Parts: sequence; structure tokens; C-alpha cells
Amino acid sequence: MQIFNSRSALSAELNALRNKGKTIGFVPTMGALHEGHISLVKNAQKENDVVVISIFVNPTQFNNASDLINYPRIPEHDVPLLKAAGGDILFMPDEKEIYPEGTVPSDLKLDLGSLAQVMEAKHRPGHFDGVVTVVRKLFSIVGECNAYFGQKDFQQLAVVRKLVLEEKLPVRITSCPIVREADGLAMSSRNMRLTPTQREEAVVLSKALLEVEKRWMNSSIEELKSFASDFLSAHANVRTEYFEIADRDTLLPATDKKNAVACIAAYLGEIRLIDNILLEKIA
Ligand code: AMP
Repeated sequence: MQIFNSRSALSAELNALRNKGKTIGFVPTMGALHEGHISLVKNAQKENDVVVISIFVNPTQFNNASDLINYPRIPEHDVPLLKAAGGDILFMPDEKEIYPEGTVPSDLKLDLGSLAQVMEAKHRPGHFDGVVTVVRKLFSIVGECNAYFGQKDFQQLAVVRKLVLEEKLPVRITSCPIVREADGLAMSSRNMRLTPTQREEAVVLSKALLEVEKRWMNSSIEELKSFASDFLSAHANVRTEYFEIADRDTLLPATDKKNAVACIAAYLGEIRLIDNILLEKIA
């Protein structure tokens, strides 16, 4: 696996590969890698000649200073994991390389429409401006590619699709399913910060989603939201920030059952976790 720290060196290498007719798969991450990230790499490998993974903890997408400081950075764990997974190229830039002008979100704002009003956008002000800024930069460094994102960050996926569409970027986005721990907890780099007790309690997020899925055919959306709220409030150590049943495209609260996704964000102590489940249309 080749490791690049410089954006210009990476761009030159990828241009040379494309000129030889190679297709590029791209997996952007913030590191502290787990099986969820590796599943994106595996998907990229199936469909591309060369797979590029980036690891960059993007400061502009953190709306909480302590979350940024405490975000796990473990390249000594990540690099061997990616080598073992057969990654071809790892891009690990430092902050100056990505933000030579300083860590300000781009003034090139993208109008996110309804995506900017709800759930993650509502509770993490500025978060998606930071995501758009860094993903736009990364796509411009990598160039034409197939990029792989996890359904785990459902709203982020919608934002990235919008970026590609609005700015006509030469990138094809693929969504990959959520990889879970044996008990159902969605894998996340933040899970390693949970205490053993919090780790046990964290399973409540995916349990709430599964219970809602089970009841999807026979209950109204309002009934399900109130069920979820009761279910979650029975767990005193889980502080739910939102539980929403949303339209998969607009992410506004769903008004019918045609195209819905249930999304949750909750805190265990100071660790904020998110999860979601697609609710399949009733016959
Ligand atoms: P992150 O490093 O958390 O920014 O995530 C990098 C990419 O991995 C994003 O596209 C995430 O949606 C994806 N990802 C994170 N956790 C999972 C998971 N449990 N299953 C599948 N994809 C994931």
C-alpha cells in the first residue's frame, strides 16, 4: 500500500493511473477504522482497479470542540488494517495540506434545502458546511472516481449526493449497508470511547429502531414515534436527541409510509451516537 501525505503527489499518481485506463474507487474516512469502513473498501475493490482510502479528521465538521479533541486517532491501528484489507493507496494529509488557508468552511456554500433544516443539521449547526467543504476538496484532489459512503450516516449521504449533483462532479456515489456489532450496535469510531456500561446500554439505539421496524406494518407514524420515545425514555442513561421517521429523499418528517427511514441520535454520557433503519413500504 502506498501512503501519500501530499495532495499534489496523490493527484499526479491518480491522473497517471487514469491515463492507463484504471478506474479509481475512493473511501473517505476519519480513521479509527472498523469493519464498517473495511466493508466500504471491499465494495470499492469489487468495482474498481485501484482503491484509495483517505484518513483525515476534518476539524470544520465538528461543532463540539471536545468531540474533536477526543476523536480517536490511531494510525498505528489503521495502517496495518488497511494493508491487510488490500487497500492500494492511503491518503493521510495533515491539516495544513487540506486547509492551507486555515480551518474555515468554504465560502462556496451549497444550498442544502430541506437537508439543512432537520436532524443532524438542526442539532449540529455548521456540521454539513464542514462536510461539504472537505468532501469537495477531497473529490477535487482524487478526481474522477467511484466513491463509497456508509448508510450509517444517512443524512451525510444525501448531502454528498446533492453536492455531486449540484456541482456536476465526476463522481459516482455508492451507498453501503450499516455494519453492526453482534448485539446490533452500529459500528462507529466513537464506540471505543464508551465505558463498558455505556457500551451495554448503547444497544438501545438499534433495539428501538428494530422494534419500530417490527411494528411498521401495523402502526401509524405518530404511534411509532411515541412508542420509540417511551421505549427510549425507559433507559435513563441514554439521552435521546432526536428520533425521527423521515422521508428518505427530503429527510423531512415522513407524512406517509412510502419512502421512510427511521433515524436516531442519542448521547451516552458525552458520546453522541447515530443510527438508522430503512422502513420498507407496506404492500
Ligand atoms: P467516518 O470515519 O465515521 O467519517 O466514516 C467514514 C465512512 O464510513 C462514512 O461513509 C460512514 O458512513 C462509513 N461508516 C461508518 N460506520 C459505518 C458502519 N457501521 N457501517 C457502514 N459504514 C460505516
